[in-house]
Amino acid sequence: MLHSPHDLVRSPLIGGELITTDQRHPVVNPSTGEIVDEILLGGAAEIDAAVVSAAAASKGWAALTAPERGRILRNIGAAISARAEELAEIESIDTGKPTKQSLSDVALAARYFEYYGSIVEALEGSVVDLGEQGFATVTNEPLGVTGHIVPWNYPIQIMCRSIAPSLAAGNTIVVKPAEDACLSTLLTAKIALDAGLPAGVFNIVPGLGAVAGQALADHPGIEHIAFTGSVPVGRHVAAAAAARGRASTLELGGKGAHLVLESANLTKALPVVLSTLLQNGGQTCSAGTRLVIHKSLHDEAMSMLRDLMSAVVTGPGLTDPDLGPLISQKQLDRVEGFVERAVASGAVIHAESATPTGKGGFFSPARVIGGVSPDSELAQEEIFGPVLTVLPFDDVDEGLAIVNGSRYGLTTGVWGADFQSANYAARRVDAGQVYVNGFVAGGGVQLPFGGYKDSGYGREKGAPALKAYTQSRTTVTSLS
Ligand code: NAP
Ligand code: MG
Repeated sequence: MLHSPHDLVRSPLIGGELITTDQRHPVVNPSTGEIVDEILLGGAAEIDAAVVSAAAASKGWAALTAPERGRILRNIGAAISARAEELAEIESIDTGKPTKQSLSDVALAARYFEYYGSIVEALEGSVVDLGEQGFATVTNEPLGVTGHIVPWNYPIQIMCRSIAPSLAAGNTIVVKPAEDACLSTLLTAKIALDAGLPAGVFNIVPGLGAVAGQALADHPGIEHIAFTGSVPVGRHVAAAAAARGRASTLELGGKGAHLVLESANLTKALPVVLSTLLQNGGQTCSAGTRLVIHKSLHDEAMSMLRDLMSAVVTGPGLTDPDLGPLISQKQLDRVEGFVERAVASGAVIHAESATPTGKGGFFSPARVIGGVSPDSELAQEEIFGPVLTVLPFDDVDEGLAIVNGSRYGLTTGVWGADFQSANYAARRVDAGQVYVNGFVAGGGVQLPFGGYKDSGYGREKGAPALKAYTQSRTTVTSLS
């Protein structure tokens, strides 16, 4: 069992109570491959109990004023910050993330509560003047009970990204985190209740996707479902919600690109390209995993990347390396499969980081790979590992065609000192977030985030996400 100075939660938390089930599931530390703890999973019965509990708490929570709810949310943010080191340690053990990344994820989780706990006070309705006949008010009402399906790659961060705006808007929630990494999400639920959230407002049920996740997507008491994960499962979840006539938000990953124009400053660009590739072992939906680079810069860039790569330190998450392990043996096999198939069909490995040997764990070296066409598997599929695919181009329109020649459209970076061509390119990128001379995978609590094309629909983060968790009610008052 993991040692925690406080109160690690290892089971569903429903109506403020810890629930015992008979389905045990191991907690694996990806840095060692060892089982370090055990959790209890819930199924359809626990999901149903969680929805019933959330529905019972709904009226009371929605009846609080925005400043009252906002204050509780900001208190939750402060409580998360106060336990940042503990939460980050748990996240690093559960996912293999380097400590610095876990600390950054926890800081972001706290920021979601601070941000939505603040801006909810400014969520004003409007009045429509109907002249002598009267007037109408348009108010922002909560949806009811919202469901949140969370993946294993950024457990605490992705969960807080969607629950904070929903709670701020006056909804009560049921969360289904991924069974492969959910300790930080379970503890966050407890922290939120201890910080003043009424029992039943926040319910969480760790469980298998096909069982607990499916039950949540199908449940008639769920008014909206927020999903982050793979394309096929996301579409399946959205179809289940649509079959009940309810909306969803889908965040389904990406194949982000760095478009490096002829005028780009490589010394500025490449360290960012590499660090955002290494972030979370490349298991980041918004990672920039294609280097679409002007031919005149290609050789110099490969040489610089070889130098940068030689300094990359790989190791267990808690030693705070540059690159930690992948989440599981399954994910490691998947990533290695992509690389082996590419190399077998003629791809060239331009740069590679050293892999720790003899230490166990699911370590995959970071690799920069070229010699593939833009329509190859390596250039098209979301690998979810530290693999950067190099795709050279001659002119900016060819570069843009490569960048946009993907089924995904989540995050893209444009690099160029010539402002005219950088702006020309940025305006033609099909992606929900575009960075010019910079790149952030994650971050930006106030910046709307979401995908074009197969990367999903709906936007998270920023003020629009708060509004998305409301429905308007128009009330007409007659004066005549
Ligand atoms: P996934 O299967 O889509 O899982 C995401 C979440 O959905 C998990 O909580 C999962 O539960 C749940 N789920 C699975 N089947 C479900 C169903 N029938 N109904 C409702 N919920 C269900 O993703 P994955 O297997 O973790 O990863 C596979 C690939 O997806 C990755 O290699 C990557 O390409 C992509 N991915 C993208 C993101 C992103 O941030 N956009 C995140 C993770 C993965 P359990 O995992 O608990 O079973
Ligand atoms: Mg784990």
